[in-house]
Amino acid sequence: MPTDDRRHRAHLRRAITLLLGPDSDPLSQAQLLFALTATAFLFIALVFNVIAGTADPRLDWIYAGLMPVHAWLWYQGRWHGRLRLTTNGVLIVLSFIALPTNWVFNAGSHGPTLLVSTIALAYSVGVHQRNDPVLRLAQGGLVLMPAVMLAIEHRFPEWIFQYRHPSDRFGDLIISYVLSSISLGVLILGHSRRFRQELQRADELAEQLRELARRDSLTQLLNHHSILEVVEQRLSERLPVTLYLADIDHFKRINDEYGHQTGDAILKALSDLMLDICATMNADAGRLGGEEFLLMVPGGVDQALVLDQQLRSALDRRTDLVCPVTFSAGLAEWQPDQSLDRLIHRADTALYAAKDAGRNRTRVAPGSP
Ligand code: GH3
Ligand code: MG
Ligand code: MG
Repeated sequence: MPTDDRRHRAHLRRAITLLLGPDSDPLSQAQLLFALTATAFLFIALVFNVIAGTADPRLDWIYAGLMPVHAWLWYQGRWHGRLRLTTNGVLIVLSFIALPTNWVFNAGSHGPTLLVSTIALAYSVGVHQRNDPVLRLAQGGLVLMPAVMLAIEHRFPEWIFQYRHPSDRFGDLIISYVLSSISLGVLILGHSRRFRQELQRADELAEQLRELARRDSLTQLLNHHSILEVVEQRLSERLPVTLYLADIDHFKRINDEYGHQTGDAILKALSDLMLDICATMNADAGRLGGEEFLLMVPGGVDQALVLDQQLRSALDRRTDLVCPVTFSAGLAEWQPDQSLDRLIHRADTALYAAKDAGRNRTRVAPGSP
């Protein structure tokens, strides 16, 4: 039943969160998973040894003693945030306690210790690259300890517990190989998931940063550089476009009379209207600086005049502003092969004509159809 399935999945998710912490922190999860995998490995090996008797019974006691140590290391990471202690602790125990004792009590180079420690070394060096002396010590231990143990085994072969039957050896090797490969797979999957999530997060942040860098912080319109870039792009595509240059009338007076903050609020209010209207017309709005705006309207003068009309009526409807606000505008339609500078110059001249004619109006540049 689907609801049962959902319930089971929710239980599973809760259990995973309890053991590994929240999903939002995949690095911690991977490190805690390492401690738990090591504990599970000890437990399974202990059970196997007790049943099959493939190792010296003294090894069972060592495993039984190490399990609470691993559990404590997991606890420190999970509930006290001491993840470095968790990872370093598990690796130190592995190199300097589990590896040598396992070597002696589990058939030395005939047993599975070399295989398991090589897999642990590959995992630890591949995944944990912190510059941390304790971690380096543990990794050094994993590298050197097998060589030391081989030398000891060569010199004192009688110290090494040997399998009673050849079939014990194969059973032990198979089980150890399967267990350690599965553990390695689970751990590497955990880490690659973490890398994927971190990459995705980095991409999202980079995109947010790019977007922030394109926008003016007060008005959220495109900044001077970005709106010109957008226009240039449009011109390079040789698509019809009209520039709409707007400048608030007597803004200095508003600032002087009501203060700079009120001036800012008016800039923001007008910009919000521009953003809303531009969104409906596929146009782009930018702040050239101060109280001067540049809007890029796809299409000809007609479309730009529609935008002009909408912007003026929307501003009229803003009764919440502390004083009447008006603006003047000049617009110029792009003519094929005209440069950006020339186009802006024409719009600017039209804007000045609107100011000269008494402000609060729009003028179309000569030469626009
Ligand atoms: P005109 O009608 O001829 O455009 O007159 P104006 O007063 O609007 O033009 P002027 O260029 O003389 O003054 C522009 C003022 O805009 C001066 C400056 O203090 C103000 N200003 C520029 N940037 C900002 C801003 O970010 N916030 C506020 N509050 N004021 C700004
Ligand atoms: Mg002005
Ligand atoms: Mg101005």
